[in-house]
Amino acid sequence: MKAHDPVRQAARLLRGRRDAVALTGAGISVESGIPAFRGSQGLWGKYDPAEYATIGAFMRNPAKVWRMLSEMASLCGDAVPNPAHAGLAELERMGILRSVITQNVDGLHQAAGSRQVIEYHGNMESLVCIACWKQYPTRERWVDGTTPSCDCGQILKPNVVLFGEPIPWLAQESAEEEARTCGVLLVVGTSAQVSPACDIPRIARKAGAAVVEVNPEETPLTASVTDIHIPGAASEVLRTLVGILRVPGGPPPEH
Ligand code: NAD
Ligand code: ZN
Repeated sequence: MKAHDPVRQAARLLRGRRDAVALTGAGISVESGIPAFRGSQGLWGKYDPAEYATIGAFMRNPAKVWRMLSEMASLCGDAVPNPAHAGLAELERMGILRSVITQNVDGLHQAAGSRQVIEYHGNMESLVCIACWKQYPTRERWVDGTTPSCDCGQILKPNVVLFGEPIPWLAQESAEEEARTCGVLLVVGTSAQVSPACDIPRIARKAGAAVVEVNPEETPLTASVTDIHIPGAASEVLRTLVGILRVPGGPPPEH
């Protein structure tokens, strides 16, 4: 391993502070077969966000937006956690990671065994009526290729946050509290371009946390907020990180 290997530096930091929080984005689920929004395989190449991912677009033409949501729902339904999700769950079991704040709506952190998960942008598990607010489990109402409707006759929207919608109050409050009080923020697979999620690393840094970023590419955080950038794929990096942290006594000295 090369000197000043960033994975080992991150391992030292995590072992030393033991009150880490993770912030994850679409990139952590790419290796589970769910494309991110940005990047070469990104969904935005196929669906223009202004046309498909805003609450205004949904209200104007729900059937059209449900075509994108249907693709998302089937991708999420078929996907299984990868070693990056498993690695974060393992860090929680080891007492190193306190919680995961995720922008993802795929439920893969919980499927991997993470218990403290803050779903910042909601999830695809349930649907809500745009008129009477009645909620339903997605599997009860949604059939691929259709626009689900409520008993009252109105359209159902998944409980995910579309552009133009507020972050669920409890998720926002607890995410900010976690950011303000953690020792290390492990940022995995987010382009940090979606607001207000992209403020979380800044809040953590300002409150004194070290920020470790796992992303094959640089983001707006890398030069300004990140302390250690690990330019690799999430599954490989998390597997290596957990492997180092499992060794009793600490990561081997750098040479
Ligand atoms: P994004 O699509 O804007 O960016 C993805 C980032 O992940 C990029 O910076 C890319 O370089 C990085 N990446 C790609 N492959 C990676 C890998 N193997 N390991 C580590 N990093 C990798 O994602 P975002 O910042 O999360 O913002 C998009 C919004 O859309 C979020 O709200 C997100 O939750 C939502 N979304 C969710 C899913 C999902 O639930 N799985 C999928 C697509 C989009
Ligand atoms: Zn209704």
